[in-house]
Amino acid sequence: MSPSTNLVSESLPTEVDVLIVGAGLAGLACARLLTLSGINTHIIEASSSVGGRVKTDEMNGFLLDRGFQVLLTSYSELKNQVDLEQLDLRAFKSGSLIRSQDQFHLLSDPIKHPSDLMSTVQARVGSLSDKTKTAILKYRLLNLCPDKCFDGPERTTLSELERLGFSQRFIDTFFRPFLGGVYLEKSLNTSSSLFNYYLRCFSSGETTLPSGGMQRLPELLAQDLEGRVTFNTIATHIDKGKVTVQNGQVVKAREVVLAVDEPAAAKLTKSPVNPFKSSVTAYFSTDYPPSRDPILILNGENDGPVNHVAILSNVCPSYAPEGMHLISVSGVDMNENEIKEFPREALKQLRQWFGPTVENWSYLHTYFIPFALPKHPPQTLPDLKALNLRYDNFVRIGDSTTFGSIQGALLSGRKGAELILEQLD
Ligand SMILES: Cc1cc2nc3c(=O)[nH]c(=O)nc-3n(C[C@H](O)[C@H](O)[C@H](O)COP(=O)(O)OP(=O)(O)OC[C@H]3O[C@@H](n4cnc5c(N)ncnc54)[C@H](O)[C@@H]3O)c2cc1C
Repeated sequence: MSPSTNLVSESLPTEVDVLIVGAGLAGLACARLLTLSGINTHIIEASSSVGGRVKTDEMNGFLLDRGFQVLLTSYSELKNQVDLEQLDLRAFKSGSLIRSQDQFHLLSDPIKHPSDLMSTVQARVGSLSDKTKTAILKYRLLNLCPDKCFDGPERTTLSELERLGFSQRFIDTFFRPFLGGVYLEKSLNTSSSLFNYYLRCFSSGETTLPSGGMQRLPELLAQDLEGRVTFNTIATHIDKGKVTVQNGQVVKAREVVLAVDEPAAAKLTKSPVNPFKSSVTAYFSTDYPPSRDPILILNGENDGPVNHVAILSNVCPSYAPEGMHLISVSGVDMNENEIKEFPREALKQLRQWFGPTVENWSYLHTYFIPFALPKHPPQTLPDLKALNLRYDNFVRIGDSTTFGSIQGALLSGRKGAELILEQLD
């Protein structure tokens, strides 16, 4: 995407009120709220643009998000911190197309798409009881305040699905690939609190893409930060009231905010790295897509490297040049060797799904993100109502302090800013 030239500060200041390390969503949200409150705030960022894990590369007219990512319009922090109109969001059709037993089955949300009711009821993915239970669960969650989703009792998502009485077949054909794509792990060991929260989010809002690519979100947050970001600058030491960068220069600050990813934070604070999950997505182009539906396609067969497929240009035509289509293919729980083979092995599998048309797809790029999301098994989530972000020498924000998501990053950014505003008063 376009370099964030208007944000660039020519020189690093020697002293500011608040110095934020990291221009991902958390750092940007924090900086924006502080700046709007009149606090002299500056960000240093190791890379050459804003966004952290939320970035988009332009390649021959295709918009390639770094990994399959979506914006859930029901995220409260997104609604409160960003003017969503400016993102020109395009929505996925809610529901999914599930590949199972050599066929595709449509599992739609009958409330959002009443005309799909019959095909959803008839889909040979789970029993009528499974579908009824899903509808009842969604209804129950929709009537719950989002914060209550985290009130427990917490167990693994798999135990929760079994406790709720879903059949093993429905869990394997629908929940495992769907939640596997959300959690980036298919054993469904993630906390049931997050299951409640995400199912509520998917049911209450839309799943969308900004027409300019996912990086439009951090760029929008950064609009109020003109001259307040220094790129290509790596923090190497953090002490009380000062940060040293790679060339030895020191910036003094009344408050230092650490808004980096988990591995970088572990290095800077000399603490162990908490466990995290990786992600892999390969992009292909074609002039003849296998479907025109803006819907997520899930692998309900539980074999092969592919977890989910999305024809992004069906959702957002600006993701591909006119007359062309962009297909994203993602895998979950893969090791390094499997990743090397991923595009080729994925195409082999997709040829079985879509037929010989796949042979005409052109390979564009693969993104492997080693640190994509922190792991959140039961009993590891922080108390979101009483976040403890204050450390001896700094305030720590970022998705590792809340939960791995856009909502989690923005929430930590806001809470960090509020904490600092109280202190600086
Ligand atoms: C492939 C993928 C798909 C995802 N899909 C979704 C999704 O669909 N929906 C959703 O809600 N969430 C999704 N997420 C999660 C979401 O993107 C993250 O939780 C969120 O962006 C984290 O933001 P952050 O600001 O906490 O951290 P980051 O984005 O990691 O930002 C940290 C920043 O700190 C900088 N930095 C690191 N070290 C230093 C240093 N020493 N000095 C200076 N700067 C430094 C980094 O360069 C980076 O810019 C996805 C993540 C990935 C990777």
